[in-house]
Amino acid sequence: MLNFNFVNPTHIHFGAQQILEIKHNISASAKVLVVYGGGSIKKNGIYNQVVEALSGFEWGEFSGIEPNPSYQTCMRAVELIKAEGYDFILAVGGGSVIDGCKFIAAASMFDAEPWDILAKGAHISKALPIGVVLTLPATGSESNSFSVISNIETEDKLPFASALVQPQFAVLDPNVMQSLPKRQLTNGVVDAFVHTMEQYLTYPVDAKVQDRFAEGLLLTLIEEGPKVLNDEASYQTRANIMWSATMALNGLIGAGVPQDWATHMIGHEITALYGLDHAQTLAIVLPRMMVQQRQEKREKLLQYAERVFGLDITDPEGAISEAISLTEQFFHQVNMPTRFSDHGLGEEVAQQVCAQLERHGMVALGEHQAVTLEKSKRILLASM
Ligand code: NAP
Ligand code: FE
Repeated sequence: MLNFNFVNPTHIHFGAQQILEIKHNISASAKVLVVYGGGSIKKNGIYNQVVEALSGFEWGEFSGIEPNPSYQTCMRAVELIKAEGYDFILAVGGGSVIDGCKFIAAASMFDAEPWDILAKGAHISKALPIGVVLTLPATGSESNSFSVISNIETEDKLPFASALVQPQFAVLDPNVMQSLPKRQLTNGVVDAFVHTMEQYLTYPVDAKVQDRFAEGLLLTLIEEGPKVLNDEASYQTRANIMWSATMALNGLIGAGVPQDWATHMIGHEITALYGLDHAQTLAIVLPRMMVQQRQEKREKLLQYAERVFGLDITDPEGAISEAISLTEQFFHQVNMPTRFSDHGLGEEVAQQVCAQLERHGMVALGEHQAVTLEKSKRILLASM
């Protein structure tokens, strides 16, 4: 196991009717900016619950954070905050709204050019505090320090991370999932699965606690993922999916282990160029990434085959092939396509994505920088 520091300071309020709890977590003197997306919260009643919870607070709102939040939209919120003196941000939405709020929180207190936070990794020394009402379990953004922002003018989709933008609290009420379109439920299950894999399927292997936590998440997602797509899904199924997605990227399973993230970095470029949903890109890349890395990750793939899919590993190569195939089948079970052709895209993708990876300096990805540009290209070409 590697050395690590672990702290997760986000206070989680989990369960039905928890949205009202936000009033106990925000200072009574705060001027709160409620930030949300395209308006789904006005149709499903979440907005009204937030308004009720904020009774007595001074607050305003900013809407229109789009899926894959753009730098341009976020900067409009920054202007509003500066003009009107908000000092607390309440993000009400999925990963896009939360990621957008993290950037807004940092950019509002940043003296130089905010784009440099993303493009140059510029240091952040302060940020506004953030609270979250989660509406879509998927990214784990509600209790981590990461954010991914897109620039629609330059087709960049770039991450940044800072402990200063980690939400102070997050409300997770599984009932909010009832209004989610199936496509977003599918996206959430797949994103959480791939987050777990990017931390679990790494080498060398000797972090037994982290491994078994990760296997617990993978098994839960495999078991409950197909059920959550059913209109009649139970509260318990939704609760299990929601908590899995948070636990998959709250730092716990990634502490003390090498972390991969090659699939995510390639996926970000695909979204920036072609607009595919984040999780759609991951489901295309991961199976071929596993094939490409099967020698390097051999030992861990065998463990995955045996413990997650219950396969007999006396024929190791056969078991690894079967585990990779079962991974792709799981994506299909939750109605997630796994090929570029499913989205009407062809071989031109490989060239264009690799050009962007090169432009962003992402030429040696993965926990041991083993995924060269050449390998990324091979993975993309094999995913047509
Ligand atoms: P999302 O982009 O936040 O939301 C997708 C769609 O779902 C939006 O149209 C949204 O509508 C709708 N929606 C959300 N909650 C709903 C509800 N309860 N009922 C009905 N519709 C609802 O999706 P996401 O998958 O959570 O976030 C994806 C983004 O997160 C990507 O940019 C990805 O790169 C990033 N990401 C971040 C991390 C991280 O650690 N920070 C990790 C992985 C991915 P509204 O616009 O109306 O809200
Ligand atoms: Fe993700």
